[in-house]
Amino acid sequence: MTIVADQPQDLPDWRNPVIPGMNRPGGRVRVALWLVSEVGEGNPFTKTELRAAFPDESQIDRRLRDLRDWGWVIHNNRDDESLRPEEQRLVKCGVPVWIPHQERPQEVGAKSALNAAERTRILSADDHMCRSCGIAAGEEYEDGFATAKLVLSRRDIVHRQGPATTTRVTLCERCAKGGLSQTADVAGFLSAVEQLSPLERRAFARWVEAGKRARGEMERLWGLYGTLPADARREILRDLASGTE
Ligand SMILES: [Zn+2]
Repeated sequence: MTIVADQPQDLPDWRNPVIPGMNRPGGRVRVALWLVSEVGEGNPFTKTELRAAFPDESQIDRRLRDLRDWGWVIHNNRDDESLRPEEQRLVKCGVPVWIPHQERPQEVGAKSALNAAERTRILSADDHMCRSCGIAAGEEYEDGFATAKLVLSRRDIVHRQGPATTTRVTLCERCAKGGLSQTADVAGFLSAVEQLSPLERRAFARWVEAGKRARGEMERLWGLYGTLPADARREILRDLASGTE
């Protein structure tokens, strides 16, 4: 069944909409239906009329504002001086939210498409730091001009098998503006790892498991070597160099 907004006779009744595939339509759906059925594009309505239509919906003003995220254009008297303070105008209908499984338009909904719980989950999985430069939220950049603000950016993932998918990654605003590569090439990464020697590959796998680059015995010894006096370093050099001949 297709419902077209300019055929009001096909619309579910805004008072008690019964919509197949939708459990108890909420205030957003009902107010959208009310606007189409009772107000009509181009016409003004008042808050009193809105509240009288939905006496049982305490958040109906908010449900009306929600529709803006769905491409509905509703002006108040700040947008349009010909309106009285208590009036608003339905300038243009947006997505027909009474049809199940509608998507929010990208340009309007892109920013808020992630809910708070999803944002928190991604930020936490990325350890609350920019995955490009490593800066944490609120930390000062080295130039001292600003503190970092983290944003979520889209990334395509090329998997070893199967089609590419899209996900989010945590970046600081600077790196996000810097236009980093938009693709995470897992397949390419893994084939580069396969080029390492078996010893290097095992060490690398341990870093990945630990989530950090663990200092191995070689790094520890190298650090210690650097602290030794010249005579001691020469002795070590002589011994090791003779061993490699
Ligand atoms: Zn960064």
